[in-house]
Amino acid sequence: MTNPLLEKHELPPFDLIKAEHVMPAIDEILAENRARVEALLTQDDFTWETLITPLEELDDRLQQAFSPVSHMNSVVNTPELRDAYNDALPKLSAYHTEMGQKAELFKAYESIYNGPEFGNLEQPQKKTIENALRDFKLSGIDLPEKEKKRFAEISSRLSTLSSQFSDNVLDATMAWQKHIENVEELKGLPDSALDQARQLAEKKELTGFLFTLDFPSYMPVVTYAEDSNLRREFYEAFTTRASDQGPNAGQWDNTEIIEEILTLRQELARLLGFENYSGVSLAPKMAKDSEQVLSFLRELSAKSKPAAEAEFAELCQFALEKFSAVEVNAWDTSFYSEKLKEHKFSISEEELKPYFPAPHVINGMFEVVRRLYDIEISATEEISTWHSDVKTYNIMKEGRLVARFYLDLYAREHKQGGAWMDDCRVRRLTSSGELQLPVAYLTCNFTPPMGDQPALLTHDEVVTLFHEFGHGLHHMMTKITCGSVSGINGVSWDAVELPSQFMENWCWEPEALQVISGHFESGESLPSDLLEKMLAAKTYSAGMITARQLEFALFDFRLHVEYDPSQTGQVQKILDEVRQEVAVISAPASNRFQNGFSHVFGGGYAAGYYSYKWAEVLSADAFARFKEDGIFNRQTGEKFLATVLEQGGSLDAMDLFVQFRGREPQIEALLKQDGII
Ligand code: ZN
Repeated sequence: MTNPLLEKHELPPFDLIKAEHVMPAIDEILAENRARVEALLTQDDFTWETLITPLEELDDRLQQAFSPVSHMNSVVNTPELRDAYNDALPKLSAYHTEMGQKAELFKAYESIYNGPEFGNLEQPQKKTIENALRDFKLSGIDLPEKEKKRFAEISSRLSTLSSQFSDNVLDATMAWQKHIENVEELKGLPDSALDQARQLAEKKELTGFLFTLDFPSYMPVVTYAEDSNLRREFYEAFTTRASDQGPNAGQWDNTEIIEEILTLRQELARLLGFENYSGVSLAPKMAKDSEQVLSFLRELSAKSKPAAEAEFAELCQFALEKFSAVEVNAWDTSFYSEKLKEHKFSISEEELKPYFPAPHVINGMFEVVRRLYDIEISATEEISTWHSDVKTYNIMKEGRLVARFYLDLYAREHKQGGAWMDDCRVRRLTSSGELQLPVAYLTCNFTPPMGDQPALLTHDEVVTLFHEFGHGLHHMMTKITCGSVSGINGVSWDAVELPSQFMENWCWEPEALQVISGHFESGESLPSDLLEKMLAAKTYSAGMITARQLEFALFDFRLHVEYDPSQTGQVQKILDEVRQEVAVISAPASNRFQNGFSHVFGGGYAAGYYSYKWAEVLSADAFARFKEDGIFNRQTGEKFLATVLEQGGSLDAMDLFVQFRGREPQIEALLKQDGII
């Protein structure tokens, strides 16, 4: 039996790939890779050619086999494929852990780094080796035996604790619900929220309406319910989950788990030679050190807080005048904010959609990048795909094919929701000297066309498309030929969103909207009065939203800089101080936001939550240069292409930014973009 996942193909043969091919292919490749790595390690002398080129080849073969499987699992899911995918995952993860812990492999990399060849290697090659050594060290491989053992104990305990943290949040979320019989009590809720609550009630064989603390159930209540007491009840239940407060006080309480996580992170950081855990987090990131992150967050707060305060004052004034509300509490802000937004900007997506028929938007997007980067994008001839909805494209520059991509725009059954870009092939030079071109998957979940009418996109969807295309260009326009630092590979986590958020800007510019928009019947581009309303709505309450993000980011970061295991009560103390410094809405004393902060205690964002704002500054500041030079300025476009998009992860993200901008990033561009200054 032949297995398409084991054969070499220029592009994956999607029509031939079946669930039963997955495990045999993965087992065979992993076994061969393990044997090859052992054989490579028997050499006396290691060089780029004899160690890293073959290792990259092994990685690439594995990636080429698994990438279409993982992609199909997301976009044309079947029970068989899901089983095969889930069977493969632990094997892949065990393999990667094994390679990351392989002391001989670490020594081999180190010998190249310390050897005579290193100085003569190209920059992307040097960066590949430096990154590998950094990651080996962060996994504790370089520690003396006793410390190494402790490191492993801590890592394992931390992963148990973080999954306990998430389980507690989940259990506490599910444990609370509110059954309401009388629709009168739910005044203000939109029909969609009522329908959902009615269905939920029916499922539990109840009459009336049932609500839970799941976000889609919770959010409409605090945003639309006219009864302030009801909003308060929901708010308190939500913000005290998994804590010592609220309706389920003391159950699934995460307080001790948080203390143990912070204590262990601190110990782990010390083992690795860092003063605190922020050092561990920042080692692979663009931000240099904790001072830089703290001053970044504080500067952003100082400059945006006056706007947040003014917005809050306006909100209180509005609540008083229109609703005779003497105070606006934490559980009231979403409600009044939504009402004020409706009052100020009556703009509906339905009004905008006719101007954004999907085929026109896509051509417009290609035209935007043609003007910016001198690239031509055209539909390809027949290529095997996973669904008839999928379109495939070539990207040409200076008459040469440089990349290809798959575009899968519409929602359908068995397709995972959301939008994302993923890599199918990475640009690299193979060991036989061939250039492998990069290939990307762009996936969205827009409403499909109906009848003869083209799919009409909301403006949000247009922005999403540009965002993912920005990630795609980062992956596809790279000129790097070392797989580990080519395209999106090896790019610092806090810089990854630069090219994507950067592309979004063209969706808000009159000159670009001339190209992107076109009424599906008349062909007329978006009228300027609609655009003005859109822009005003875009920056609505930007100051308060920024203050909230900064509260989370500064709390997360200060915790991982300042936490001292010998003191008690620090978590709440730091949160209170941060709120004092940056927040404009005061939280009630019972609020235990930290006990549900899954990004940081249940996920990978520890000392990393700042990345959201950090990347926004990068993209706003990069775009500000286009605002200065003209948003279609070819020279500026070519410069961005050459310094950011083509370089992938081959250089430090800050160096690349400085090459493009001529200086380090400044926060003013973001403040301006948000309408704060
Ligand atoms: Zn993104």
